[in-house]
Amino acid sequence: MSKAPAAVTASQELDEFNPFLSMAQLFDNAARLLNLDEGMQEVLRRPDRELTVSLPIVMDDGSTKVFTGYRVQHNFLRGPCKGGIRFAPDVNLDEVRALSAWMTWKCSVVDIPFGGGKGGVICDPRELSKRELEQITRRYTASIMDILGPDRDVPAPDMNTDEQTMAWIMDTYSMHVRRTTTAVVTGKPISIGGSRGRREATGRGVMLVCREAMKRLGRRPENTRVIVQGSGNVGGIGALLLYREGYKIISLSDMYGAIVNENGLDVPQVLEHLRQHRRLEGYPEAESVANADQIFMDCDVLVPAATENQITSRNANRIKARLIVEGANGPTTAAAQEILDERGVTVVPDILANAGGVTVSYFEWVQDRMGYFWTEEIVNTRLEQAIVKAFNDVNDTAKKYDVSMRTAAYVLAIERVANVYRMRGVFG
Ligand code: NAD
Repeated sequence: MSKAPAAVTASQELDEFNPFLSMAQLFDNAARLLNLDEGMQEVLRRPDRELTVSLPIVMDDGSTKVFTGYRVQHNFLRGPCKGGIRFAPDVNLDEVRALSAWMTWKCSVVDIPFGGGKGGVICDPRELSKRELEQITRRYTASIMDILGPDRDVPAPDMNTDEQTMAWIMDTYSMHVRRTTTAVVTGKPISIGGSRGRREATGRGVMLVCREAMKRLGRRPENTRVIVQGSGNVGGIGALLLYREGYKIISLSDMYGAIVNENGLDVPQVLEHLRQHRRLEGYPEAESVANADQIFMDCDVLVPAATENQITSRNANRIKARLIVEGANGPTTAAAQEILDERGVTVVPDILANAGGVTVSYFEWVQDRMGYFWTEEIVNTRLEQAIVKAFNDVNDTAKKYDVSMRTAAYVLAIERVANVYRMRGVFG
């Protein structure tokens, strides 16, 4: 029987929903297990650099509006900072801080030579024209130019940014440095230095870790019922690849609502409907369900692939899935993880489950610097090797310390970064 959730005060809830504090709590747990000394903890907990920029934009109606953008570089001990840029109305500095720290740990878990960074612009892309989005992207790039570069900080897409956004960033940077510099961003169109397989890479990583976790649980994909929250780059492609592996995808959602078919959705058809109508609503072979109810429906596997703070101390007891594969960054709060641990729910944590994207971003950066491009088969094979190895490393660490996969992923990641720090020494 599961425990009733403890009463939560307003300030506790605020803390729980602050992704940076949530990340710090997970960091502290792992640091304690590693017996990291106080000084090292202080170094690794804090972001190295934070930049806030004002972006004046002439709007289509002739008015001038000033947007706010952030770029946070959490850590670059293992290599250039790596991390996406998101455009959303609720972007804030603490969120970008947390996301940049997660990138440090994620790059370390998959053992690629990057540190962590993240960026964001406060805007609602649904209310902006393509020209306005281009202006915001170019001005943002120009404003953070001093800390960008293939050897310094290499952005990528995230929520509401895509290949087109990356093309504008690459062009703006290249115009400023007076030479085409493809390796300054990843997730670009293939025709301008993008990598084959990058668009699908995060979803492919989600599918691969799901497969590894299912093997450990002694389960097969057939008749395994999966709910996917979000149907963008991660959720949509993750759902498609899981569907092709034989899983039954019973529900998908987007920001407007969820659709359900207990017999399994025809995912390629759903994605075609989404492409044509820009929302899932109205897909004929499914029922509509409110977003607020979707993740609590009966299923075997839940893939939260939309946004942060979806599984919290308030609702973790209502989750029916026995396996959660985190496509999104930070969908489960630290407090909710404790409840899921007590209930014996296996969680493949974000910094492992969605690391496929950054892994192929690394491959893209390598290809750009070599000027020699790989086949999709090579990209996918190397991605699979990296993700399966990372899964096994995390699993072994979980056994060694007798902890959840989330704590194990932090332990592994922090230990690797701390080791580099010890080797390089304290500069100053
Ligand atoms: P996206 O913009 O392509 O898609 C987001 C999807 O979530 C859309 O379908 C949107 O409608 C939906 N959505 C938003 N709010 C929702 C809500 N409350 N309920 C249900 N659906 C909702 O973004 P993405 O690139 O797929 O990113 C999704 C998550 O994955 C983010 O947390 C992001 O940081 C993380 N992530 C992305 C990548 C990548 O390569 N794109 C890599 C690692 C992690």
